[in-house]
Amino acid sequence: MTGPAPGEPLRVGDIVRLKKAHPCGSAEWEITRTGTDIKLKCLGCGRTLMLPRLTVEKSVRAVRRADA
Ligand SMILES: [Zn+2]
Repeated sequence: MTGPAPGEPLRVGDIVRLKKAHPCGSAEWEITRTGTDIKLKCLGCGRTLMLPRLTVEKSVRAVRRADA
């Protein structure tokens, strides 16, 4: 699995796996906006959600970056 170095900021287009799965069963999210809050799109059902950056960073287990 490829991904950014630990501690590197998340970028738009990254696919992150979070500790907690969405109710639809998917635990993978695409980052669609970054900033103080990060916007995530569920890869299972397409639903989007905004979470504080710190919350996201704490719950990320893995990051996949397409151009890595
Ligand atoms: Zn979902």
